[in-house]
Amino acid sequence: MNVRTKIDAKAAQQTEHFDVVIAGAGISGVGAAYHLRTQMPGTSFVVLESQESFGGTWLTHKYPGIRSDSDLHTFGYRFKPWTSAPIATADEIRKYMGDVIAENDLGRHIRYKHSITAANWSNADNLWTIDAIRSDTGEAVRFTTNFFWMCQGYYRHAEGYTPEWKDFDTFKGTVVHPQKWPKDLDYKGKTVIVIGSGATAATLVPNIADDVAHVTMLQRSPTYFRTGRNAIEIAETLRKLQVDEAWIHEITRRHILYEQDAFTRRTFKDPDSARKDLLSAVEAYLGPDYDIATHFTPTYRPWRQRIAFIPDGDLFQAIKAGKASVVTDEIERFTEKGILLKSGKTLEADIIVTATGFNLSATGDIAFGIDGKPLDFADTVTYRGMMFTGVPNLVWVFGYFRASWTLRVDLVADFVCKLLKHMKETGVSKVTPELRPEDHNMPLLPWIDPENFNPGYMMRGMHLLPKRGDKPEWQHNQDYWAEKDEFPKIDLTDKAFVYS
Ligand SMILES: Cc1cc2nc3c(=O)[nH]c(=O)nc-3n(C[C@H](O)[C@H](O)[C@H](O)COP(=O)(O)OP(=O)(O)OC[C@H]3O[C@@H](n4cnc5c(N)ncnc54)[C@H](O)[C@@H]3O)c2cc1C
Repeated sequence: MNVRTKIDAKAAQQTEHFDVVIAGAGISGVGAAYHLRTQMPGTSFVVLESQESFGGTWLTHKYPGIRSDSDLHTFGYRFKPWTSAPIATADEIRKYMGDVIAENDLGRHIRYKHSITAANWSNADNLWTIDAIRSDTGEAVRFTTNFFWMCQGYYRHAEGYTPEWKDFDTFKGTVVHPQKWPKDLDYKGKTVIVIGSGATAATLVPNIADDVAHVTMLQRSPTYFRTGRNAIEIAETLRKLQVDEAWIHEITRRHILYEQDAFTRRTFKDPDSARKDLLSAVEAYLGPDYDIATHFTPTYRPWRQRIAFIPDGDLFQAIKAGKASVVTDEIERFTEKGILLKSGKTLEADIIVTATGFNLSATGDIAFGIDGKPLDFADTVTYRGMMFTGVPNLVWVFGYFRASWTLRVDLVADFVCKLLKHMKETGVSKVTPELRPEDHNMPLLPWIDPENFNPGYMMRGMHLLPKRGDKPEWQHNQDYWAEKDEFPKIDLTDKAFVYS
């Protein structure tokens, strides 16, 4: 595959060819690059990244306290031990990713400030043509590739999601979205409202609580949280025993994954007991007199939305200390001084933070086409949440929501490398997932079953996502515990893969 191909004589001088193009240098793209380099030496590849550096999520978000909400033993790669406290700051995660890049000489494969705008597959040439714009020079650049590995994440990095509120513009104070946190925002001594109660709000509130006059977390409905010490006992014990860090990483990962799997299964089988455990941990911080029923008891079953981990209960400690409070109500409209709630109560603020989530952008805002015809991923069916019917030589990384995203980065990478090796060995240049005869009457369903998992950004964008079937091959099942065994056994000669 290491052939430099000229697509058209005119563009050829500016067109570079790579065996593989990777979109994005977040945790997925850097992981993809590592696996290609180590599992497929000799493969030419480039990582194209819109931003000025690596990190993705951990570069984009700069709000106070920005940290992971899952542990870094499993959010970290399986091949690089995590040696610090499990919940990590964005800086620590970027340092870890930077080490992976440096230790594996990946830097020379990454082109920053390259935004991919279009990707077109040609059946005549069996190649993707990738168009990008350089944000430093404004120059249009073109690449061709045999295989396109999409590691572009799931939301638009350029802007966050803000719902439409009545009289939003009347508010005379400052409005900030956490995805665009101004470096010079002075919140010292100010009254702040944070709208939302997801992981971002739960991180921000305790991290600004000591500096502001008061911070109110305003939520329409409550969220589940897990809480505890920012430490993992088994890792601490093994470290005391001077066990090698690579072993500690592996053992701790297995321990966490086993426990997480058991808890997830309990949320389906016995949601009441799972709910009770989560709520009693909150009560341990806030005390029996706090109105946990109103502010921390969601109506849905635990795990239907992501459950953020609150290290050392810092959110609850800020509430207990009176520096932060929670209001559960709906916004009627904005006023000059703050927010009028549906209950008739008003909240005044100098600063309002809209921690209201993301705009789903599952394809990195890239205009896709096949032989010049626009490709709409919503018309395709997903092969295990990573390939799509009728779309040749393309893999997409969509991680887990209930477990750390990165677990799937490693699994998908093993699959891609195995697939590329198989194609090389069998001398084929194109692989396209297609429904098999036995799949043709299969019901086609939304990407994710809303009964199973239903955060707002997924529900808002579900119509844009590929369809799912009712068999494991045609679903992204969000179950690492099952996929870790299923993925290595994927039969590449199955009729779901059409080669030529
Ligand atoms: C604040 C926050 C905290 C989170 N915490 C956790 C956690 O603790 N655990 C967990 O499992 N998940 C967490 N998530 C989810 C998280 O986004 C993913 O786990 C993970 O970081 C996604 O990595 P990624 O590389 O796939 O995508 P991203 O981090 O989104 O990176 C994608 C990269 O692709 C680039 N890109 C996109 N489109 C293009 C294009 N057209 N051309 C070129 N480049 C492009 C982007 O600039 C970006 O750098 C969190 C998310 C947020 C927002």
